[in-house]
Amino acid sequence: MTRHHVQCTFEGCGEAASYKIAARWSDGGFAELKTYGFACSNHLGPVFQLAEERQHQYKPAPNEVVEELAIFRYESGKRDRQLQRLWGLEDNYRT
Ligand SMILES: [Zn+2]
Repeated sequence: MTRHHVQCTFEGCGEAASYKIAARWSDGGFAELKTYGFACSNHLGPVFQLAEERQHQYKPAPNEVVEELAIFRYESGKRDRQLQRLWGLEDNYRT
């Protein structure tokens, strides 16, 4: 099995990601975690804010539901539903 090394999505940063920024998305039937970015511990703030901007600009179709952005502790090899959501961190960064 190949080990995926996910990098921070902040421009110019090549650090391994520690956090995943994502929001639950549904089209009424199918639902999944929509990923907005990955961040190392130095860039969680800017990556989260970029994700918020992208989410605000996105115009969902009438049947689409996009929930608020969430920060998860990213661990490679773990499935989305196994990731730990970091509620306390979200409050620090939400604008
Ligand atoms: Zn970074």
